[in-house]
Amino acid sequence: MEFIAFTYVGNFVEREVIDKVVFNVFDEANRFFEGKRFPLRFLYIGRLKLEPGYLINLTTPEGKIMVYPMEALVELLYSRLLREIEGQPEIRMNKIFALTTFPLVSRNRYFDFYEKFLGVHETLLGLRMMMLSMKPFEPEGLSRLITIIKTGEDVDVEARRKLRLKLHLFKDRLLKGVLHEVGHSFGLEHCRNQCVMNSPASMVEWDLRVPDYCDDCTAKLRAVLGRDTTQLL
Ligand SMILES: [Zn+2]
Ligand SMILES: [Zn+2]
Repeated sequence: MEFIAFTYVGNFVEREVIDKVVFNVFDEANRFFEGKRFPLRFLYIGRLKLEPGYLINLTTPEGKIMVYPMEALVELLYSRLLREIEGQPEIRMNKIFALTTFPLVSRNRYFDFYEKFLGVHETLLGLRMMMLSMKPFEPEGLSRLITIIKTGEDVDVEARRKLRLKLHLFKDRLLKGVLHEVGHSFGLEHCRNQCVMNSPASMVEWDLRVPDYCDDCTAKLRAVLGRDTTQLL
């Protein structure tokens, strides 16, 4: 069995989003690996925090946004993974996956939709860091709805139903993103089938993908997972 350390890096994350999105993505991904009989599991290692001082305010074509500097995050993930490996030398693990609440920038270059939608990978001294920003997957109006429900005294059933649907959609989109990046980390490339490895041109397209690898990608992944992939990097 191989493990991938799983964490999320968040500032100002709503409780609902952590419970209904982050933890559900983690659980469902593990159930997915189990269902596929992949000898692979995510290992939750707790939340990581980049100090607020690291957050950068950036003016972009889409307005002013807050972003994380990728280099600082890579360092944080690297040292956290190393500590985890040293603490549990008996398990096979050389990768870490981080969901981040804010988009990432590298040397002040702003990732465009395509890049920030998909994750970023960095390999350092045989360890692989994977980062996926949650922001681009967030359904429109979610944070407004959470605020309304949190502050409203008399919130109707309809608003709560809407919130549930949005959180569910958020989780579905992210789960596919996570499977996509995990695929890359084991050498899968983009494919043209109905498959999470088929990278989308838009969120609408992404919503139409099933949360699964196609037969080709499944077979490739299974072949790689059968080998000792900790030696491949
Ligand atoms: Zn990709
Ligand atoms: Zn495929």
